[in-house]
This record gives sequence, C-alpha cells and structure tokens, in this order.
Amino acid sequence: MVIVFDHLERAILATLPTALEQGPVLDGGARLWVKRDDLTGLGGGGNKARKLEFLCGDALAKGARSLVTVGAGQSNHCRMTAAAGAKLGLEVHLVLAGDRPAELTGNQLLSKLFGAQLHFTGAEESHWGELEIAREELTSQLIADGLAPYAIPIGGSTAVGALGYAAAFLELLDQCDESGIAPSTIVFTSSSGGTHAGLLAGRAVAVAQGRAVPGVVAIGVAKGVNIGFPDIATLANETLALMGQGTKGASVSERDIEVDVAWIGDDYAIPTEAGDGAIHWAAEHGGWMLDRTYSGKGFSGLLGMAAAGRFASEADVVFIHTGGWPALFAPGGAPLLSGQ
Ligand SMILES: *Cc1c(COP(=O)(O)O)cnc(C)c1O
Repeated sequence: MVIVFDHLERAILATLPTALEQGPVLDGGARLWVKRDDLTGLGGGGNKARKLEFLCGDALAKGARSLVTVGAGQSNHCRMTAAAGAKLGLEVHLVLAGDRPAELTGNQLLSKLFGAQLHFTGAEESHWGELEIAREELTSQLIADGLAPYAIPIGGSTAVGALGYAAAFLELLDQCDESGIAPSTIVFTSSSGGTHAGLLAGRAVAVAQGRAVPGVVAIGVAKGVNIGFPDIATLANETLALMGQGTKGASVSERDIEVDVAWIGDDYAIPTEAGDGAIHWAAEHGGWMLDRTYSGKGFSGLLGMAAAGRFASEADVVFIHTGGWPALFAPGGAPLLSGQ
C-alpha cells in the first residue's frame, strides 16, 4: 500500500496498529471481527486519539501553546484532548455542555486529572451550535491572553482530524490481508462525522488502487443539527486533498455514504434498550466494554442488521470499536445494572 501520510505533521499519541480480534458468529451466520480502537492508548483510548495525532501535529507546526475544544458533558473527545495536551505540554481548555457538577465523574474526572480547564456552558447536551459559539468566544479570549490556542471543533471532525481514519482504514485492510479475510462490511458508531469521512477517504484510496474493499456503514447516534456537522462527502474529499500524493483518481461521492439512524432512540446520550442489550452482549461474548452514548448504540445497529439478514452467512463483518467506556462510570438515566 502506498504511504500517503509521510508529508503530514503528526504527533505520536496513539498505540498503533490496534488489534483486530475475532469474535463469535452472529445471528444469520456472519463472523464478527472487532477492531479495537477503544485501545488506542491515549488517556483511556478511543477513536479521537487517531484524529488528535494529526490535529496536534498541525497545532505544534503552527506554534500553538494551547488547545481549545468542545463537547457534550461526558465527551470522550475532550478527555483525549486533555490527555494529548498533558503529553505535549500544551494547556487545554474544554468547553462542555451542562453545569459544573458537585462531583466530577467519568470523562470529566479524567479530563481534570489530565490537567485541563473545564468551562461549563450550561448548554443542553447536543445543542452543538450553542457549544461551538461558546468555543469560538473562548478561543478569542485565549488569543487576547496570548495563549496561541489551536481550536478544534466538535469531535475533531476537520479534514486534518479525518486523516487519522483514512490511515485507520488502510491499516485495517492490511490486517484483513494478514488474517486472510475480505470483510463485506465495516460498521462503526458515528456522531460528528470525522471518523466516517476519514474511513471513506481511506476506502477511496484503496479503490483507486484497484483493491476490493468492504462497504462502510455508519450507525448514527447524534442528530446532525446546526454547525459542527460537516457534509461527509465534502469532508472526505478535503481529506483526500490533504493526503495528496498517492490518492490519484480517489474521490468520495454521496453514493458512498450510508448512515443508519434507526438506533439513536430518543436523542443523543439517552440510553436505549437495544443499546443496553448490546452492551451486555459484548461484555458477555468478548469482554468488550461499550458505552450507552456511542458504542453500545452502534453495536446494537450491527446486531440488528445481523438479525435482519443484512449480512451473508459466513461473511466477515468488522465492528470498529470507537471506545467510550469512561462514560459507564458517570451517572445519568436509569441504571445499566441494579446491585441485586
Ligand atoms: C466521538 C465518538 C464517536 C463518533 O466519532 P465521530 O468522528 O465524531 O463521528 C464514536 N464513538 C465514540 C466512543 C466517540 O467518542
């Protein structure tokens, strides 16, 4: 595979490649594989580590002295940005939904442990537009204070961030070759779209090189509202442009995009019965830790597709486990398990 990343600034933050693990046979006979991007290492791991390698590389190249980003109250992206700042010696400011709690839990606890400053906006969860405006205001303040901030939008979903998942797609294809499999489908959990755009950019490069590639199915867990949710094809093509050499003839069109939004339930971060069921299934079948906002709902989509006969019997299907376990240790909603 042609290496198309060497000319790009990259901070080494993640433990790569992540493992591709074989799981049990699914309903309908397809074989499950799990790409362990929950084990990227950085500050508890998850998909944002891959994006942050390129975002922080860019930040350092631009002489940034601080990072500022934004997210839901229990943002995994904010937690990993805090850890990246700790590793790289950059001050980190996090703009978060909700009010300052009496006690920090889950991702907030870890973000603070990593030394980040938490700015609570009082905004409701998933009011992404309002959160982005607060992030822009804080960025202006940090510029005025001489802190040379590098601003990262929700989920790190810029073309620079998406480079991480273009690289991940190519990493996964190599691992599939090593394991002697040619998966029919890759399923993963999507919210701000950078992971999706990156995977499709990587896929387009492989297609342009004449390789057989799996389909990519996103399970959406947030409603795409307001700013902060880029158009996936545009973002993927911007990512390809950054990759430059080695991507000749590669492009992503609307036809490549499949987002299944049937698994969100009431809204972002509100647990669903199917998502909680998927958490139990994954824990009991593979010792995998999923969460109620992201990977539990995403995996419920994969299990649902298997049960509905979407995958051929004996097909190989890859779930990219994007992480999120720290949110299991933050209260909210009905308990996942009772003590009985
Ligand atoms: C951020 C996140 C996602 C979604 O990734 P996007 O690139 O924002 O679409 C999925 N799973 C987990 C655990 C996440 O933290």
